[in-house]
Amino acid sequence: MTKDEKKHLSRVADLGCAVCRRMGYPGTPAEIHHPRAGTGAGRRASHWDAIPLCPEHHRGSTGLHGLGTKGFPKHYGYDEADLLADTRELLGIRVNP
Ligand SMILES: [Zn+2]
Ligand SMILES: [Zn+2]
Repeated sequence: MTKDEKKHLSRVADLGCAVCRRMGYPGTPAEIHHPRAGTGAGRRASHWDAIPLCPEHHRGSTGLHGLGTKGFPKHYGYDEADLLADTRELLGIRVNP
């Protein structure tokens, strides 16, 4: 991991849980989740795609891993791509393909 990536991950974690934020509770201590969607051959999961999630919304029964990539959007009405967009916006990162 490069120094820039480490710095980025700590900024991501400092935002607090992305799901709690959407529910009106910003700043919940978060851990890092790396989305797996869109990581086909030749594209490894990137630290720049990291999303901050609290332990419950990460690994708990109402979390991204607990509900799964299909159950999660059904439960919340948004998916990890939306949470990644939130995260990038908060950090002021522009996404240029
Ligand atoms: Zn949360
Ligand atoms: Zn995860």
